[in-house]
Amino acid sequence: MTVTTRFAPSPTGYIHVGNLRTALFNHLIARKAGGTFILRLDDTDPERSKQEYADAIQQDLEWLGLTWDRLERQSDRLDRYAEEADRLRAAGRFYEAWETPTELDLKRKKQLNMGQPPVYDRAALKLSADDKARLRAERGQGVWRFQLDQERIEWVDGILGPLSIDAGSVSDPVLIRADGQVLYTFASVVDDIDMGITHVVRGADHVTNTATQIQIMAALGAGHPAFAHHSLLTGAQGEALSKRLGTLSLRDLRAAGVERMALLSLMARLGSSQPVVLAGSIDELAEGFDLSQFGSAPTKFDETDLFPLTARILQETPLSAVAGEIAALGVPDALAADFWAVARANITTKADLAPWWALFRDGAVPVVDDEDRAFVAAAFAMLPDPPYDGATWANWTNAVKDATGRKGKTLFMPLRKAVTGQDKGPEMADVMRLLRKKPTL
Ligand code: GLU
Repeated sequence: MTVTTRFAPSPTGYIHVGNLRTALFNHLIARKAGGTFILRLDDTDPERSKQEYADAIQQDLEWLGLTWDRLERQSDRLDRYAEEADRLRAAGRFYEAWETPTELDLKRKKQLNMGQPPVYDRAALKLSADDKARLRAERGQGVWRFQLDQERIEWVDGILGPLSIDAGSVSDPVLIRADGQVLYTFASVVDDIDMGITHVVRGADHVTNTATQIQIMAALGAGHPAFAHHSLLTGAQGEALSKRLGTLSLRDLRAAGVERMALLSLMARLGSSQPVVLAGSIDELAEGFDLSQFGSAPTKFDETDLFPLTARILQETPLSAVAGEIAALGVPDALAADFWAVARANITTKADLAPWWALFRDGAVPVVDDEDRAFVAAAFAMLPDPPYDGATWANWTNAVKDATGRKGKTLFMPLRKAVTGQDKGPEMADVMRLLRKKPTL
């Protein structure tokens, strides 16, 4: 059996770090096993699903390199869902129910008041043919609920271990709405069977769905894939991330300059007992991926962790990988290698390149402490005009040292701040070599 996994986002928004975890785990499982990874758009909700989000999801996954072997859309498969719904009806596992949301709410409140779990009471199962005809006449089509077998539903979860859920504690799920819209719980089951999905990894918020889906699969005569539920992400302080996820969309992180392998390397290990290792490729991540190393506790995610990783990647990135971007900054070809070699060790993201280039090209606004003003003026008077070379800094500072008697930090730091406008950065010999203009006060 070919290992087949899927990432099944609803195209109702941009994907964020939480979704990315799901996508990545499923992708890595398929890649590690030489299997198939399917991108499935769960777009049965015509109001909320948008083509722009479907496109954006694909762009984001492409950026990350999480390529898929097949693209499926649930909206193309409505006929299949209707066929399988008929089979459930024929098997007596589907029943129509007419309660309004308000009526259901009232039932739940009553149950809670009496200390009972708010589980649907199956009143619709007891309706006579006459009742049903009357309700249909009065209220139109009902919803279709799946009648759960009242038993314990058990599986060995790939992350959570052996799980057992009492079907009696779960409401018979509505699988088809009154307007005929097939709901995810059912469409997903039909897809997972038809597409030969062998492993489903998704968030822990789906554990109850899994229990009901296992029964629906069985009712359709199918076995079920191996299920694993990863913990949900929280913010760095353990706070719920859901509200902030909008600002942690993959496109925002990308726009903030996060390198894709930084994000993938972190997400492949965060929440597991294996340390985060900066991987060079997705294959490398796949090789080291081990679902059983992940824990059930909520996983803290701090996006600031992405920046040191990004910086490390850039430090090892060859010029060839960034030549276009360097040229776009206006760096002359002859200077590109030198500029990149110096700049890459002093940036967090590629966005920091432009200021460095501006500094080398135009000079900086000097930062000079009051007590250094005369010293810096004297030193600048001793600096020849460009072009500069690798010896300029040593020659200049030696001359300044002889003339002023300053040495060490009191010699070098005021000059660094005056030339670069900052108190840290590349070796000053490198800065001077790259400088196109004579610094002035
Ligand atoms: N569309 C569902 C979601 O985004 C898919 C869940 C699943 O993987 O089955 O939550």
